[in-house]
Amino acid sequence: MSAPTLPRVTIIGGGFAGLHAARALARAPAQVTLADRRNHHVFQPLLYQVATAALSPADIASPIRHVLRKVRNCRVVLGELTRVDLARRQLYFEDVAVEYDYLILAAGATHSYFGRDEWAPIAPGLKTLEDATELRRRILLAFESAEYEGSEDSRRRALTFAVVGGGPTGVELAGAIKEIAAQTMPADFRFIDTTTTRVLLLQGADRLLPSYPPDLSERARRDLETMGVEVRLNARVTDISSEGVRVGEDFIPASNVFWAAGVRASPISATLGVPLDRSGRVIVAPDLSIPGHPEVFVCGDLAAATSAGSGLPVPGVAQGAIQAGNFVGSLLSRELGAIARGKTAPPRPAFSYFDKGSMATIGRGRAVAQIGRLHFAGMPAWLLWGLVHIMFLVSFRNRVMVMLSWFWNYMIFSRDARLIIGNSRLNITLPRDDPVRPRPTETAA
Ligand SMILES: Cc1cc2nc3c(=O)[nH]c(=O)nc-3n(C[C@H](O)[C@H](O)[C@H](O)COP(=O)(O)OP(=O)(O)OC[C@H]3O[C@@H](n4cnc5c(N)ncnc54)[C@H](O)[C@@H]3O)c2cc1C
Repeated sequence: MSAPTLPRVTIIGGGFAGLHAARALARAPAQVTLADRRNHHVFQPLLYQVATAALSPADIASPIRHVLRKVRNCRVVLGELTRVDLARRQLYFEDVAVEYDYLILAAGATHSYFGRDEWAPIAPGLKTLEDATELRRRILLAFESAEYEGSEDSRRRALTFAVVGGGPTGVELAGAIKEIAAQTMPADFRFIDTTTTRVLLLQGADRLLPSYPPDLSERARRDLETMGVEVRLNARVTDISSEGVRVGEDFIPASNVFWAAGVRASPISATLGVPLDRSGRVIVAPDLSIPGHPEVFVCGDLAAATSAGSGLPVPGVAQGAIQAGNFVGSLLSRELGAIARGKTAPPRPAFSYFDKGSMATIGRGRAVAQIGRLHFAGMPAWLLWGLVHIMFLVSFRNRVMVMLSWFWNYMIFSRDARLIIGNSRLNITLPRDDPVRPRPTETAA
């Protein structure tokens, strides 16, 4: 007699939600497949540190195969899901159709330019390692260009950075760029004073970090301004070009514009043909399944879920994804176990999100934290932020490497991953009357 075939559970996405779902299914009587279009998991909360040369890409990423090597019932597949046919229970990876019995969609989110997608090449966002190394390239190249610029105006434009969006990513990025300019770069350049670098943080709302309590928003603003970042609140960006950024009627010449203003769900949700919210997230039932499709679950940033405990929306943060992934994996594991034993599946519980608090770092020794009713800032918040981020990195190697890098950076004010990878051509403007500006080495002598 042949062994009964195990149900096929497919997970899309090796982010926080997908990895935790796979781990929670480790003992389930199922053939689990996790597919991701990349071969690595990325710890997104530290992407801005790669973008600002404090960490290397490998410090915050781990191969998904390695992360799941001990989950014996799970195989890992490298592939990009392009479409889901819910009625036929089929997934399309390009032209290849694959069937599933249960599906866990955890494909996360991407940038939203609020209908102005033409801004994307000029003002890149930060979501993947490719984005982070591109931002790093642009930041480092800006200083290189400024060193050779022919006029004061163009030098000033090269050294102006505008970060659009005052949520945690915008705050962290703006603070880190100012720190590079003020602490790391001055000794490396001969012809420019990098401390004059202008960093603007443009926030459409009336305060930074809108999801945090107002006192912490205010503290973040004060800290950034103390560091020299120009914070503009109620600043609605109306245009972005290679020359700069327009805020209402005001034009700010800036060669470097970065986007940290909005996210929308992975485009895969649009292929499902089910109700989505305004950000393209799938509106899920209390057990995180798609209404009418109890065999399909959505978790993490791709889901518009409501917490059963509080009745509030589950936020698009790492904890939301981790808890939802664990919840779906455990629920399915119990259900498949009962079915395998010839019993009826237990009733499905509703997902409740437990808010463990939020933290954002602003700069060296500066951060804000909220844990329950406790709000605090400064060095204690910064140390806690560091500890929590180390704890949640998925591999032991990453934890050690990040700790060592941070210790080194802290001791000598350094950011050693200052590598320009990709196009390193300078984009400089020579003045008409001085077409051959002496090279710095010639004038320095
Ligand atoms: C710059 C930045 C900073 C952040 N900082 C914080 C923070 O400080 N604290 C916090 O709690 N949260 C933070 N977040 C949010 C947090 O990282 C996300 O909420 C979390 O990563 C969501 O997890 P997820 O598993 O839903 O999606 P993701 O982690 O985005 O994973 C999705 C996975 O799906 C894969 N994928 C996508 N589309 C496809 C496809 N079509 N086919 C195959 N694979 C696909 C992707 O490659 C990826 O591996 C930050 C996010 C960003 C971008």
